[in-house]
Amino acid sequence: MCEQFNSKIMQARGVRDKLEDHKRNSRFWVPQWVGDAKGEKFEVCCRMDKYVVDLGERTCSCRVWDLCGIPCAHAIVALGWRNLKPEDYTHGGSEVTNESGLETQERSSVMLQSHIVETQESIAN
Ligand SMILES: [Zn+2]
Repeated sequence: MCEQFNSKIMQARGVRDKLEDHKRNSRFWVPQWVGDAKGEKFEVCCRMDKYVVDLGERTCSCRVWDLCGIPCAHAIVALGWRNLKPEDYTHGGSEVTNESGLETQERSSVMLQSHIVETQESIAN
């Protein structure tokens, strides 16, 4: 039980660490808004490299954002251009933490119930 709980916390920590890594790398990238009506599409350039970020779809042509659910460096500069927080665009980032909290609550109520059953049984005996 505890191991499962710990691995969830580790997962949440991993997400945060990766996001910090991407933030550090994002300083090399320059976002250029392509001029779409919603203001969600960007071309993000660094020297000869260029990636296309879509904030509405939560995708980047480097595929990191779609696959990991963590905004890549390219997405982070585009989000920054819009004054948006990468944390709010991390799939499962805050959910991971909330979920483990919920599970603990459920688990403790199950443990409490089994304790009551045990107590009742010992009274009956
Ligand atoms: Zn990217």
